[in-house]
Amino acid sequence: MLPDSYRLSDLYCGHEGKYICSLKNRFDPELINEPIQLFNLSCGCWIVLDGNNRIGLILKHNEDAQIGDFPKKIFVFIKNEEFDEEEILYWNPYPKPFSYILPLSKELNIVTRNKKKFKNKTDYQKEVNRIKKLLTKKTHNCIVPNKHES
Ligand SMILES: [Zn+2]
Repeated sequence: MLPDSYRLSDLYCGHEGKYICSLKNRFDPELINEPIQLFNLSCGCWIVLDGNNRIGLILKHNEDAQIGDFPKKIFVFIKNEEFDEEEILYWNPYPKPFSYILPLSKELNIVTRNKKKFKNKTDYQKEVNRIKKLLTKKTHNCIVPNKHES
């Protein structure tokens, strides 16, 4: 479990998250069939195994969203012992906090929407690659201070 005051932006995204800010629709907790799966890494960070886009959608509209703002049933908290962490990190390499990913995803979204404003294709591609690089290969750092169970 995480405290109600835990900010969703402090969760670690399980994928690159580059398209999060181009996601459409709004998040409706009542329409959720599968709960959002949160896994506690041995370092103490919480990674989103399933539901990264849903978390992204929530944060897109409310960056300050907290766990307690939503019905408890939409989250499932998985303890480190219940899964093979090595396998999890194989499928979700380099988890990074949403607070890191979101501004970059927003930037990428703006760049792609304004493609025509670039002088040439090379400049445009350079900018896209620069942002994508920041979103991809990067080792996992425990940026967010670990908040343990209350
Ligand atoms: Zn960590």
